[in-house]
Amino acid sequence: MKTNNVLTLIMALFLLSCQPKEPKVSEADVTEKVQVADKEAFKYWTWITADAKRNDSSYVAEFSKYKNNGIDAVLINTNTDPSLLNRLTPIAKEQGLEVHAWIMAMNRPGDSVALKHPEWYAVSRDGNSCFDHRPYVDYYQWLCPTRKPARDHVLKLVEELAKVEGIATVHLDYIRYSDIFLPVGLLPKYDLAQETELPEFDFCYCDVCVEEFEKIHHKNPRDFSNPAIDMEWKQFRLNQIKAVVDDAYEIAHKHGKKLSAAVFPYPEMADHMVRQRWDKWNIDMVLPMIYNNFYNEEVDWIGFATKQGVVDLKGTSTELHTGIFVPPMTAEEVNQAIQLAKENGANGISFFDGGALTEMQLSAIKESK
Ligand SMILES: [Zn+2]
Repeated sequence: MKTNNVLTLIMALFLLSCQPKEPKVSEADVTEKVQVADKEAFKYWTWITADAKRNDSSYVAEFSKYKNNGIDAVLINTNTDPSLLNRLTPIAKEQGLEVHAWIMAMNRPGDSVALKHPEWYAVSRDGNSCFDHRPYVDYYQWLCPTRKPARDHVLKLVEELAKVEGIATVHLDYIRYSDIFLPVGLLPKYDLAQETELPEFDFCYCDVCVEEFEKIHHKNPRDFSNPAIDMEWKQFRLNQIKAVVDDAYEIAHKHGKKLSAAVFPYPEMADHMVRQRWDKWNIDMVLPMIYNNFYNEEVDWIGFATKQGVVDLKGTSTELHTGIFVPPMTAEEVNQAIQLAKENGANGISFFDGGALTEMQLSAIKESK
Protein backbone atom coordinates (compact mmCIF):
# COMPACT_ATOMS: atom_id res chain seq x y z
CA MET A 1 0.00 0.00 0.00
CA LYS A 2 1.35 3.40 -0.94
CA THR A 3 1.88 5.94 1.81
CA ASN A 4 -0.84 8.20 0.33
CA ASN A 5 -3.31 5.38 0.47
CA VAL A 6 -2.40 4.57 4.06
CA LEU A 7 -2.88 8.21 5.00
CA THR A 8 -6.25 8.30 3.30
CA LEU A 9 -7.30 5.18 5.17
CA ILE A 10 -6.17 6.64 8.51
CA MET A 11 -8.05 9.86 7.73
CA ALA A 12 -11.16 7.89 6.86
CA LEU A 13 -10.98 5.87 10.07
CA PHE A 14 -10.40 9.06 12.06
CA LEU A 15 -13.41 10.70 10.47
CA LEU A 16 -15.54 7.70 11.25
CA SER A 17 -14.49 7.76 14.89
CA CYS A 18 -15.29 11.47 15.02
CA GLN A 19 -18.88 10.96 13.87
CA PRO A 20 -21.30 12.28 16.49
CA LYS A 21 -22.40 9.47 18.79
CA GLU A 22 -25.87 8.04 18.23
CA PRO A 23 -28.30 9.28 20.87
CA LYS A 24 -28.84 6.74 23.64
CA VAL A 25 -31.30 4.10 22.48
CA SER A 26 -34.15 3.60 24.92
CA GLU A 27 -35.60 0.19 25.65
CA ALA A 28 -38.84 1.28 24.04
CA ASP A 29 -36.95 2.00 20.81
CA VAL A 30 -35.39 -1.45 20.91
CA THR A 31 -38.79 -3.09 21.42
CA GLU A 32 -40.20 -1.10 18.55
CA LYS A 33 -37.31 -2.13 16.30
CA VAL A 34 -37.80 -5.78 17.22
CA GLN A 35 -41.48 -5.49 16.35
CA VAL A 36 -40.63 -3.88 13.04
CA ALA A 37 -38.14 -6.68 12.37
CA ASP A 38 -40.82 -9.26 13.18
CA LYS A 39 -43.16 -7.59 10.73
CA GLU A 40 -40.44 -7.68 8.10
CA ALA A 41 -40.04 -11.43 8.63
CA PHE A 42 -42.82 -12.31 6.22
CA LYS A 43 -43.86 -15.83 7.21
CA TYR A 44 -44.61 -18.71 4.82
CA TRP A 45 -47.06 -21.38 6.00
CA THR A 46 -48.72 -24.45 4.59
CA TRP A 47 -51.75 -26.47 5.68
CA ILE A 48 -51.33 -30.26 5.72
CA THR A 49 -53.45 -33.23 6.79
CA ALA A 50 -51.63 -35.92 8.75
CA ASP A 51 -52.03 -39.66 8.44
CA ALA A 52 -51.16 -41.75 11.51
CA LYS A 53 -50.28 -44.71 9.29
CA ARG A 54 -47.34 -42.93 7.67
CA ASN A 55 -43.92 -43.51 9.24
CA ASP A 56 -41.66 -40.87 10.73
CA SER A 57 -39.13 -40.92 7.91
CA SER A 58 -41.80 -39.99 5.35
CA TYR A 59 -42.64 -36.98 7.54
CA VAL A 60 -38.95 -36.05 7.84
CA ALA A 61 -38.83 -36.02 4.03
CA GLU A 62 -42.03 -33.96 3.71
CA PHE A 63 -41.06 -31.41 6.35
CA SER A 64 -37.52 -30.98 5.06
CA LYS A 65 -38.92 -30.41 1.55
CA TYR A 66 -41.03 -27.53 2.91
CA LYS A 67 -38.16 -26.06 4.91
CA ASN A 68 -35.74 -26.28 1.97
CA ASN A 69 -38.21 -24.34 -0.16
CA GLY A 70 -38.69 -21.48 2.28
CA ILE A 71 -41.73 -22.61 4.28
CA ASP A 72 -41.52 -21.55 7.94
CA ALA A 73 -44.63 -23.11 9.49
CA VAL A 74 -46.96 -26.09 9.07
CA LEU A 75 -50.59 -26.21 10.15
CA ILE A 76 -51.25 -29.88 10.85
CA ASN A 77 -54.73 -31.38 10.77
CA THR A 78 -54.59 -34.54 12.89
CA ASN A 79 -58.39 -34.92 13.05
CA THR A 80 -58.01 -33.59 16.58
CA ASP A 81 -55.65 -36.35 17.70
CA PRO A 82 -53.26 -34.95 20.34
CA SER A 83 -51.12 -38.12 20.37
CA LEU A 84 -50.49 -37.92 16.60
CA LEU A 85 -49.70 -34.21 17.00
CA ASN A 86 -47.32 -35.11 19.84
CA ARG A 87 -45.53 -37.52 17.52
CA LEU A 88 -45.26 -35.13 14.55
CA THR A 89 -44.43 -31.87 16.36
CA PRO A 90 -40.83 -32.75 17.30
CA ILE A 91 -40.20 -34.12 13.79
CA ALA A 92 -41.38 -30.88 12.18
CA LYS A 93 -39.49 -28.75 14.69
CA GLU A 94 -36.26 -30.66 14.06
CA GLN A 95 -36.62 -29.70 10.40
CA GLY A 96 -36.88 -26.06 11.51
CA LEU A 97 -40.64 -25.61 11.12
CA GLU A 98 -43.09 -23.93 13.46
CA VAL A 99 -46.09 -26.17 14.24
CA HIS A 100 -49.76 -25.19 14.46
CA ALA A 101 -52.52 -27.50 15.66
CA TRP A 102 -55.33 -27.31 13.11
CA ILE A 103 -58.79 -28.27 14.37
CA MET A 104 -62.14 -28.39 12.59
CA ALA A 105 -64.05 -26.48 15.26
CA MET A 106 -67.82 -26.15 14.68
CA ASN A 107 -68.00 -28.58 11.77
CA ARG A 108 -67.11 -31.93 13.36
CA PRO A 109 -67.63 -34.71 10.80
CA GLY A 110 -67.58 -38.19 12.33
CA ASP A 111 -66.98 -36.89 15.86
CA SER A 112 -67.68 -40.03 17.92
CA VAL A 113 -68.46 -38.09 21.10
CA ALA A 114 -70.74 -35.54 19.43
CA LEU A 115 -72.59 -38.23 17.48
CA LYS A 116 -73.84 -39.63 20.81
CA HIS A 117 -75.65 -36.30 21.33
CA PRO A 118 -77.96 -35.62 18.36
CA GLU A 119 -79.26 -32.48 20.12
CA TRP A 120 -75.80 -30.82 19.86
CA TYR A 121 -76.13 -30.37 16.10
CA ALA A 122 -77.23 -27.18 14.34
CA VAL A 123 -80.80 -27.06 13.03
CA SER A 124 -81.80 -25.33 9.77
CA ARG A 125 -84.69 -22.89 9.34
CA ASP A 126 -86.67 -25.69 7.71
CA GLY A 127 -86.19 -27.79 10.84
CA ASN A 128 -83.53 -30.30 9.78
CA SER A 129 -80.62 -31.16 12.06
CA CYS A 130 -77.05 -31.53 10.74
CA PHE A 131 -77.01 -34.73 12.79
CA ASP A 132 -78.81 -36.62 10.05
CA HIS A 133 -79.48 -34.04 7.33
CA ARG A 134 -76.30 -32.44 6.03
CA PRO A 135 -76.26 -29.27 3.92
CA TYR A 136 -74.29 -29.52 0.65
CA VAL A 137 -71.99 -32.44 1.56
CA ASP A 138 -71.94 -35.38 3.94
CA TYR A 139 -68.95 -33.98 5.88
CA TYR A 140 -70.98 -30.90 6.88
CA GLN A 141 -71.88 -31.90 10.45
CA TRP A 142 -72.16 -28.59 12.26
CA LEU A 143 -72.54 -28.24 16.00
CA CYS A 144 -74.64 -25.50 17.58
CA PRO A 145 -72.36 -22.85 19.13
CA THR A 146 -75.06 -21.85 21.64
CA ARG A 147 -75.56 -25.24 23.30
CA LYS A 148 -73.23 -25.38 26.28
CA PRO A 149 -72.36 -29.10 26.14
CA ALA A 150 -71.56 -28.82 22.41
CA ARG A 151 -69.33 -25.75 22.78
CA ASP A 152 -67.70 -27.22 25.92
CA HIS A 153 -66.87 -30.30 23.87
CA VAL A 154 -65.19 -28.18 21.18
CA LEU A 155 -63.30 -26.17 23.81
CA LYS A 156 -62.12 -29.36 25.50
CA LEU A 157 -60.68 -30.53 22.18
CA VAL A 158 -58.98 -27.13 21.80
CA GLU A 159 -57.48 -27.56 25.26
CA GLU A 160 -56.14 -31.06 24.52
CA LEU A 161 -54.33 -29.70 21.46
CA ALA A 162 -53.13 -26.62 23.39
CA LYS A 163 -51.42 -28.92 25.89
CA VAL A 164 -49.20 -30.51 23.22
CA GLU A 165 -45.63 -29.44 23.86
CA GLY A 166 -43.94 -27.37 21.19
CA ILE A 167 -46.91 -26.16 19.16
CA ALA A 168 -47.19 -22.42 18.51
CA THR A 169 -50.96 -22.00 18.07
CA VAL A 170 -54.21 -23.89 18.08
CA HIS A 171 -55.65 -23.16 14.65
CA LEU A 172 -59.43 -22.98 14.41
CA ASP A 173 -60.95 -23.96 11.09
CA TYR A 174 -64.70 -24.06 10.32
CA ILE A 175 -65.16 -21.56 13.12
CA ARG A 176 -68.46 -20.24 11.77
CA TYR A 177 -71.93 -21.36 10.69
CA SER A 178 -72.55 -23.47 7.62
CA ASP A 179 -72.45 -21.37 4.44
CA ILE A 180 -75.65 -19.44 3.90
CA PHE A 181 -74.08 -18.49 0.56
CA LEU A 182 -71.52 -20.77 -1.08
CA PRO A 183 -68.58 -19.22 -2.94
CA VAL A 184 -70.03 -18.29 -6.31
CA GLY A 185 -67.48 -20.37 -8.20
CA LEU A 186 -68.65 -23.53 -6.40
CA LEU A 187 -72.38 -23.12 -7.14
CA PRO A 188 -72.36 -24.94 -10.51
CA LYS A 189 -70.73 -27.95 -8.83
CA TYR A 190 -73.79 -28.24 -6.58
CA ASP A 191 -76.19 -27.19 -9.34
CA LEU A 192 -77.42 -24.39 -7.09
CA ALA A 193 -78.59 -20.81 -7.41
CA GLN A 194 -78.46 -18.80 -4.16
CA GLU A 195 -79.98 -15.39 -4.64
CA THR A 196 -81.56 -15.16 -1.21
CA GLU A 197 -80.95 -16.81 2.17
CA LEU A 198 -82.49 -20.23 1.62
CA PRO A 199 -84.08 -22.02 4.64
CA GLU A 200 -82.20 -25.29 4.15
CA PHE A 201 -78.84 -23.49 4.47
CA ASP A 202 -79.83 -21.08 7.26
CA PHE A 203 -78.70 -22.09 10.83
CA CYS A 204 -79.25 -22.41 13.80
CA TYR A 205 -82.94 -22.53 14.70
CA CYS A 206 -82.66 -25.12 17.48
CA ASP A 207 -84.75 -24.68 20.65
CA VAL A 208 -81.80 -23.36 22.67
CA CYS A 209 -80.81 -20.73 20.08
CA VAL A 210 -84.40 -19.55 19.75
CA GLU A 211 -84.87 -19.43 23.52
CA GLU A 212 -81.60 -17.54 24.16
CA PHE A 213 -82.40 -15.06 21.40
CA GLU A 214 -85.94 -14.50 22.72
CA LYS A 215 -84.56 -13.78 26.20
CA ILE A 216 -82.57 -10.86 24.81
CA HIS A 217 -84.78 -9.58 21.98
CA HIS A 218 -88.33 -10.74 22.82
CA LYS A 219 -89.02 -12.06 19.33
CA ASN A 220 -88.87 -15.49 17.76
CA PRO A 221 -86.73 -15.97 14.63
CA ARG A 222 -89.01 -18.83 13.55
CA ASP A 223 -91.76 -16.22 13.11
CA PHE A 224 -89.74 -13.90 10.85
CA SER A 225 -91.09 -13.64 7.32
CA ASN A 226 -87.62 -12.53 6.13
CA PRO A 227 -84.98 -13.46 8.74
CA ALA A 228 -82.19 -12.18 6.48
CA ILE A 229 -83.12 -8.57 7.29
CA ASP A 230 -83.33 -8.95 11.06
CA MET A 231 -80.09 -7.41 12.30
CA GLU A 232 -80.41 -8.69 15.87
CA TRP A 233 -80.73 -12.25 14.62
CA LYS A 234 -77.63 -11.83 12.45
CA GLN A 235 -75.73 -10.19 15.31
CA PHE A 236 -76.77 -12.90 17.77
CA ARG A 237 -75.17 -15.52 15.55
CA LEU A 238 -72.00 -13.47 15.00
CA ASN A 239 -71.75 -13.15 18.77
CA GLN A 240 -72.22 -16.89 19.39
CA ILE A 241 -69.20 -17.69 17.22
CA LYS A 242 -67.16 -14.86 18.75
CA ALA A 243 -67.89 -16.26 22.22
CA VAL A 244 -66.44 -19.65 21.28
CA VAL A 245 -63.32 -17.99 19.82
CA ASP A 246 -62.81 -15.74 22.82
CA ASP A 247 -63.02 -18.75 25.17
CA ALA A 248 -60.59 -20.71 22.97
CA TYR A 249 -58.21 -17.73 23.17
CA GLU A 250 -58.21 -17.91 26.98
CA ILE A 251 -57.61 -21.65 26.89
CA ALA A 252 -54.73 -21.46 24.39
CA HIS A 253 -53.06 -18.68 26.36
CA LYS A 254 -53.51 -20.56 29.64
CA HIS A 255 -51.28 -23.25 28.14
CA GLY A 256 -48.72 -20.75 26.82
CA LYS A 257 -49.92 -21.07 23.22
CA LYS A 258 -51.50 -18.62 20.83
CA LEU A 259 -54.72 -18.82 18.85
CA SER A 260 -55.02 -18.63 15.06
CA ALA A 261 -57.86 -19.34 12.64
CA ALA A 262 -58.63 -19.96 8.99
CA VAL A 263 -61.33 -17.45 8.07
CA PHE A 264 -63.30 -16.15 5.09
CA PRO A 265 -61.61 -13.61 2.79
CA TYR A 266 -62.42 -10.36 4.62
CA PRO A 267 -64.72 -9.45 7.51
CA GLU A 268 -67.85 -8.21 5.67
CA MET A 269 -67.64 -11.09 3.22
CA ALA A 270 -67.26 -13.57 6.10
CA ASP A 271 -70.25 -11.98 7.81
CA HIS A 272 -72.34 -12.17 4.63
CA MET A 273 -71.46 -15.77 3.72
CA VAL A 274 -70.96 -17.67 6.96
CA ARG A 275 -71.89 -15.39 9.96
CA GLN A 276 -68.25 -14.84 10.86
CA ARG A 277 -66.93 -11.43 11.90
CA TRP A 278 -63.29 -12.14 12.64
CA ASP A 279 -62.08 -8.57 13.05
CA LYS A 280 -64.00 -8.51 16.36
CA TRP A 281 -62.39 -11.63 17.83
CA ASN A 282 -59.76 -12.08 20.52
CA ILE A 283 -57.23 -13.86 18.37
CA ASP A 284 -53.50 -13.66 17.67
CA MET A 285 -53.48 -14.50 13.96
CA VAL A 286 -56.00 -14.91 11.19
CA LEU A 287 -55.35 -16.69 7.91
CA PRO A 288 -58.11 -15.54 5.56
CA MET A 289 -58.67 -18.07 2.79
CA ILE A 290 -58.36 -15.63 -0.09
CA TYR A 291 -59.08 -18.28 -2.69
CA ASN A 292 -59.66 -16.10 -5.75
CA ASN A 293 -60.43 -19.20 -7.83
CA PHE A 294 -63.47 -20.05 -5.63
CA TYR A 295 -65.00 -16.66 -6.31
CA ASN A 296 -64.21 -16.38 -10.03
CA GLU A 297 -61.82 -13.55 -9.19
CA GLU A 298 -58.44 -12.80 -10.68
CA VAL A 299 -55.12 -12.92 -8.83
CA ASP A 300 -55.15 -9.17 -8.10
CA TRP A 301 -58.21 -9.75 -5.87
CA ILE A 302 -55.81 -11.40 -3.38
CA GLY A 303 -54.29 -7.95 -2.86
CA PHE A 304 -57.70 -6.29 -2.54
CA ALA A 305 -59.02 -8.80 0.02
CA THR A 306 -55.76 -8.78 1.99
CA LYS A 307 -55.93 -5.00 2.31
CA GLN A 308 -59.57 -5.08 3.41
CA GLY A 309 -58.63 -7.36 6.32
CA VAL A 310 -55.44 -5.52 7.21
CA VAL A 311 -57.29 -2.20 7.43
CA ASP A 312 -60.09 -3.75 9.52
CA LEU A 313 -57.54 -5.15 11.99
CA LYS A 314 -55.82 -1.76 12.54
CA GLY A 315 -55.64 -0.99 16.23
CA THR A 316 -55.75 -4.68 17.21
CA SER A 317 -52.77 -6.95 17.82
CA THR A 318 -54.10 -9.59 15.40
CA GLU A 319 -51.74 -10.54 12.59
CA LEU A 320 -53.09 -11.34 9.13
CA HIS A 321 -51.50 -14.00 6.93
CA THR A 322 -53.05 -14.34 3.48
CA GLY A 323 -54.17 -17.86 2.53
CA ILE A 324 -54.14 -18.96 -1.11
CA PHE A 325 -55.46 -22.04 -2.90
CA VAL A 326 -52.60 -23.25 -5.08
CA PRO A 327 -53.91 -26.11 -7.27
CA PRO A 328 -55.25 -23.98 -10.15
CA MET A 329 -52.36 -21.47 -9.96
CA THR A 330 -49.25 -21.29 -12.09
CA ALA A 331 -45.88 -20.78 -10.37
CA GLU A 332 -45.93 -17.20 -11.67
CA GLU A 333 -49.35 -16.61 -10.11
CA VAL A 334 -48.12 -18.01 -6.79
CA ASN A 335 -45.27 -15.51 -6.95
CA GLN A 336 -47.71 -12.69 -7.78
CA ALA A 337 -49.90 -13.69 -4.84
CA ILE A 338 -46.90 -13.56 -2.48
CA GLN A 339 -46.04 -10.05 -3.70
CA LEU A 340 -49.67 -8.89 -3.43
CA ALA A 341 -49.94 -10.19 0.14
CA LYS A 342 -46.70 -8.39 1.07
CA GLU A 343 -47.59 -5.14 -0.65
CA ASN A 344 -50.98 -5.02 1.03
CA GLY A 345 -49.70 -5.40 4.56
CA ALA A 346 -50.00 -9.14 5.36
CA ASN A 347 -47.59 -10.63 7.88
CA GLY A 348 -47.23 -13.78 5.81
CA ILE A 349 -48.83 -16.15 3.34
CA SER A 350 -50.18 -19.68 3.68
CA PHE A 351 -50.49 -22.24 0.90
CA PHE A 352 -53.34 -24.74 0.63
CA ASP A 353 -52.20 -27.29 0.74
CA GLY A 354 -48.71 -28.66 1.27
CA GLY A 355 -49.35 -31.89 -0.60
CA ALA A 356 -50.60 -30.02 -3.67
CA LEU A 357 -47.56 -27.77 -4.08
CA THR A 358 -45.80 -28.60 -7.34
CA GLU A 359 -42.02 -28.47 -7.83
CA MET A 360 -42.51 -25.34 -9.95
CA GLN A 361 -44.60 -23.65 -7.25
CA LEU A 362 -42.10 -24.64 -4.55
CA SER A 363 -39.28 -23.11 -6.62
CA ALA A 364 -41.29 -19.91 -7.00
CA ILE A 365 -41.83 -19.81 -3.25
CA LYS A 366 -38.14 -20.39 -2.55
CA GLU A 367 -37.04 -17.74 -5.04
CA SER A 368 -39.40 -15.15 -3.57
CA LYS A 369 -37.89 -15.58 -0.10
ZN1 LIG B 1 -78.69 -23.81 18.09
